[in-house]
Amino acid sequence: MRIVYMTFVVCVLIALPVFAHAQARPLPGPDVQQIYERLLPQIDKIPAFDHHAHPGFSDDPDVDAMAAPPNASEALRTRADNPELVAAAKALFGYPYADFSPQHAKWLLDKKAELKKQLPGPAYFNSILDQLNTESSVANRAMMADYLDAKRFPWVFFADAFMWPFNNQREAARNSDEGVFIPLQENLLHRWMQQENVSKLPGSFDDYLKFISQVLEDNSKKGGIAMKFEVAYFRPTTFGDPSRAEAEVIYRRYAAAGIPSEHEYRIFQDYIFRYLVAEGGRLHLPVHIHTAIGIGDYFNLSQSNIMNLESVLRDPRYASTTFVMIHGGYPLEREAIWLAAMKNVYLDSSFGELAQYPSAFKETLKMWLETFPDKITFGTDCFPYNDVLGAEESYWLGVRSSRTALAAALAEMISEGEITEPRALELAHGYLHDNAVKLYEGRVH
Ligand SMILES: [Zn+2]
Repeated sequence: MRIVYMTFVVCVLIALPVFAHAQARPLPGPDVQQIYERLLPQIDKIPAFDHHAHPGFSDDPDVDAMAAPPNASEALRTRADNPELVAAAKALFGYPYADFSPQHAKWLLDKKAELKKQLPGPAYFNSILDQLNTESSVANRAMMADYLDAKRFPWVFFADAFMWPFNNQREAARNSDEGVFIPLQENLLHRWMQQENVSKLPGSFDDYLKFISQVLEDNSKKGGIAMKFEVAYFRPTTFGDPSRAEAEVIYRRYAAAGIPSEHEYRIFQDYIFRYLVAEGGRLHLPVHIHTAIGIGDYFNLSQSNIMNLESVLRDPRYASTTFVMIHGGYPLEREAIWLAAMKNVYLDSSFGELAQYPSAFKETLKMWLETFPDKITFGTDCFPYNDVLGAEESYWLGVRSSRTALAAALAEMISEGEITEPRALELAHGYLHDNAVKLYEGRVH
């Protein structure tokens, strides 16, 4: 108690000359709009590091390791008919129309085709990043594309497929979403096997684990900066802690043939997940985990609740693994920020800024900035919507939403007497760039 009291006294003494008010106010003052107008151009000048995105063209199947199930529900702002996408096309390409009628959309298609000719190879997407003042953007893709500049689009590869090596008939039959997702995982596992010249699953469990580690090491050599799990799409994120022997028995039983029971499959996956997490520490490959609602009507929010991961994140055995909670647990971001109390746990805000309008996203950012501001990172989760509206427009919407919401959150914090303006700009640099970049130990900038 004494220490707390002393800290309080010291803070007040330091704070007094800076703030007009000793205590923060519950409401912003009339100056909030002016502060916002002053901050935004400065925030726009900060080169950003986009910590989570899916850059690529809409006809590129490697943009993600998964695909949207047909006819999946979309929240209002993430629909392709969001009128803000007109503003995006206007800002990026000088789109002269106010809607995307087929005739008008053709203008945009032609314009992009012309630009791709003028800016061949990696130059096209580099120019999109330049327009957004994004220095680099993570490319969370199944495989990298030769039309993305590896220096500006560091690769984050997917690691889920190692958990589905057996006959997945039952897994895929659970519902129509899994019918789309599971075959894509099988496909990715086969591509990793091809990469390592492995024609069938190794006979021994030991060799299977060696194969996994080899893929991680080779992907790292190929430029991969982190591994990503979207496991919440395929099973509950409550991970048991089975022994190696338990997992080995199941591997031996089903590697060649047969369908494991759901219980057996989960035990095996629990072990593999923890193996991958530990390898992430050994190999300095941060572990990205999808933690939010997801596409597809069968996505189970309670079974994928970010707090299910608490037993893994707060396990001292994984203290050397860096975790990034992609999408920050949305819509449970209020609980999620407290996971960042762990020194090795970070939150990424991507998708939150696309799913919510800036007025709501500002509240998320403000709460995070008021809690662990040095543990939060910016990302867009940009994705090609369709042939006409691509990752380009999605990038624009994500970047503009995040920069404006950030300026608004900080303006309120300044106006309410919580922080000074110079401190606000430090926090902005941290969120938009520095906090994420430092996780990769010089591999990105
Ligand atoms: Zn994503």
